[in-house]
Amino acid sequence: MAKRNGKPTKNENYQFQKLKMCKKCQRYSVLKDPICPVCGKYYKKVDQLVRKSVMKRFILEAIWILTVTGLAVLFAPTAQTIYYLAGGVMFCISYIIVTSIFLKSEYHYQLKKRLRKDLRKIQAGIRFESNLAKEAESEGQLEAAYEKLCEIGDFVYSDEVKIRQVIVLNKLPLRSGVEPELERLIPSSYDKNFVKYALKVLKKNRARFTKRCITYFIRNREKIMIDFGEDALIAIADTALRMKLYILEFSSFIEEFLPDLPKERIQRLCSIILANPDLDWGSLKVRTIELIGRKYRNDPDFKRFLVNERIISRA
Ligand SMILES: [Zn+2]
Repeated sequence: MAKRNGKPTKNENYQFQKLKMCKKCQRYSVLKDPICPVCGKYYKKVDQLVRKSVMKRFILEAIWILTVTGLAVLFAPTAQTIYYLAGGVMFCISYIIVTSIFLKSEYHYQLKKRLRKDLRKIQAGIRFESNLAKEAESEGQLEAAYEKLCEIGDFVYSDEVKIRQVIVLNKLPLRSGVEPELERLIPSSYDKNFVKYALKVLKKNRARFTKRCITYFIRNREKIMIDFGEDALIAIADTALRMKLYILEFSSFIEEFLPDLPKERIQRLCSIILANPDLDWGSLKVRTIELIGRKYRNDPDFKRFLVNERIISRA
């Protein structure tokens, strides 16, 4: 599975630059495959097709102006030929300068016009490729199906495409050496498949759990509790302890699961609180002090925190 970051490549700064077209089938494509699977012809990039047609029109107009100027000079009275010639050349130069200035905006206008006009064709093309991904999935070619869905997902930001990617990812093992994707796949509402995948990622790479991901779990905690049990939420509280900023942001959520967190996490939390006495830890600080006093009073690992208990309480 190729490492993906969901960002356009160096030469593809805009979403539409991924869009290609088979001129023979008049079908649009967003997949990276350079050849149309229906007729075998090479796809043409849509932005290049539009650029070419704008340039072609520009050149045709220039030729037309030159021809008219040439004819005017040819049939001009002999004494005035030089004036006709100078006028024609001036007109041509001004035309080229003015058109060059507006060429870029004309290109964007024509591109927008074309995308708007062919919207249904583009949707049909994406549907066709979505079915190709479905076929690959049903034939067991999971990595190929995932790649296709990612290509579509770079173009269409919908929950449906995200969930389809997650379903395929749930069937694939997590590759070592490849950072699993998570943030890009977060759907807008609760989805069991996504939570299942996120928990799978959490086991392998806690660092992939960003603020957005933790927020998603907290927002959907009731449904996650029903489908995955309390352990899933404890694991999220645990991962939120990774960073000082997350602890501050999710302090009340962490506080709820404090008694269920492993000893080393509580140790880490105590160290962070002790090292940052000026920060507003809210009731999390009080609960942490209570917990170590109750659960770890005789634990030598907590001795330094107990010595500092009064310092922590005062901080
Ligand atoms: Zn074709």
